[in-house]
Amino acid sequence: MLANDLKLTQNSYYAASANEQPHYPKLEGDIIVDVCVVGGGFAGLSSAIELRDRGYTVAVLEANHIGFGASGRNGGQLIAGLACEQDVIEKEIGFDGAKQVWNMTLEALDLVRERVKRFNINCDLQDGFLGVSVNEKKGKQLRHWFDDMQKRYHYAAEWIEPAHIKKWIDSPRYFNGYYDKRGGHIHPLNYCLGLARGAAGLGVQIYQHSAVTAMQQGQSTNISSAVLQTDKGQVKAKFVVLAGNIYLPEIAPQLAPKIAKRIMPVGTYIIGTEPIESSLAAKLIPSNAAVCDTNFVLDYFRLSRDKRMIYGGRVSYSAMTPPNLTQSMQARLVKTFPQLKSTKVEYTWGGFVDISMNRAPDFGRVAPNIYYLQGFSGHGVALTGLAGKLVAEAISGQATRFDVFADIKHHDFFGGKLLRTPALVLGMAWYQLREKFG
Ligand SMILES: Cc1cc2nc3c(=O)[nH]c(=O)nc-3n(C[C@H](O)[C@H](O)[C@H](O)COP(=O)(O)OP(=O)(O)OC[C@H]3O[C@@H](n4cnc5c(N)ncnc54)[C@H](O)[C@@H]3O)c2cc1C
Repeated sequence: MLANDLKLTQNSYYAASANEQPHYPKLEGDIIVDVCVVGGGFAGLSSAIELRDRGYTVAVLEANHIGFGASGRNGGQLIAGLACEQDVIEKEIGFDGAKQVWNMTLEALDLVRERVKRFNINCDLQDGFLGVSVNEKKGKQLRHWFDDMQKRYHYAAEWIEPAHIKKWIDSPRYFNGYYDKRGGHIHPLNYCLGLARGAAGLGVQIYQHSAVTAMQQGQSTNISSAVLQTDKGQVKAKFVVLAGNIYLPEIAPQLAPKIAKRIMPVGTYIIGTEPIESSLAAKLIPSNAAVCDTNFVLDYFRLSRDKRMIYGGRVSYSAMTPPNLTQSMQARLVKTFPQLKSTKVEYTWGGFVDISMNRAPDFGRVAPNIYYLQGFSGHGVALTGLAGKLVAEAISGQATRFDVFADIKHHDFFGGKLLRTPALVLGMAWYQLREKFG
């Protein structure tokens, strides 16, 4: 998967417009810290910042470079809630717990803004998220969801009737929707690089090209510590945070095999057009919000600061890049915005999301001193930030909020490594058929 994945980053708009960053070395030799974080994406960097704020010495080990994974490639959409519906969480931990989870997803949105301000991160932060339905049937479902969320969760968003949807988005595709001013969008790679700069400024040691290939767990309750091995060095740490996303089982299959079975990589892809003339861009999405539909295989898009349409969609359950990717993505774009029929596509890239079986995030411990954060299921831009805060709270002895998430049960994907992918392909094909004809 990784070889295929590397190709997916080669023509990324984000990489082409990345801010300058300091050089972070490779780990060479042995170091001792309180906490070792594995993974230099949003989840790992957020954990490092929050732990450093609480006085811990921290090292982040990144196998590739900062923002290499999903954090440097995603749609940049800041979205309230989780990838799964709230009733999934209610069934698992009851309404009060589910409400706490929902409120924490809102806190996650605020945290992004706090961090942008605190570390002065230049990442094109823009307010506003627009959720839209593609037909009357889905519009009814969306209205039902919205009413329920308002009534029981006091969700403060604005409802958009079918008669008004065109004022929000100049597309023939959409039926109705809602606008959440707390949502928004960012340039994710620049946000990630900014978090790294902020963390390093606090004294976090960041090492790139330092894949962790083995780990002895140790125990936090006595002076013995976990030991993490890279090819040129090792880290001794009282605590470990595993934030390696779907790359972790690829790079180090023996590190945490139990949690590896609970997530699957699903490919999703993005194109970036040439800059669109400003008055047309302002007409397409007058609020300049991030937009996402409610389909099972959804389209998500927004304008960049320089008025390119950053348009995401399609999925691949087999880890293979779909054929004719640019053309098929452009066809989706033109279906949504026929006005962009002649607009050139300049970038195509993609990455993998770490989906869990029930699409709920999967946070927990593999040992008393080894924490993990995974299963963001495509809803991680904001939530990873909060996840880092929760893990830092837990390590410093305040585990209540972390454990609200850790209490959500997760199941393995069926089959061994070879069978899991075909099983997922079949399962997802069934959902797609149900969406089309159901
Ligand atoms: C194309 C795409 C579009 C998306 N769009 C959105 C969106 O619009 N909104 C939204 O909310 N979410 C979106 N997501 C999901 C979101 O990007 C992720 O949930 C989030 O970035 C996950 O962050 P992370 O830190 O957990 O993982 P990552 O950013 O993937 O970071 C994990 C890092 O760990 C490193 N690593 C792994 N194993 C090891 C090891 N053994 N040693 C050292 N380092 C290791 C990897 O190299 C990697 O850099 C999208 C994802 C993709 C791929």
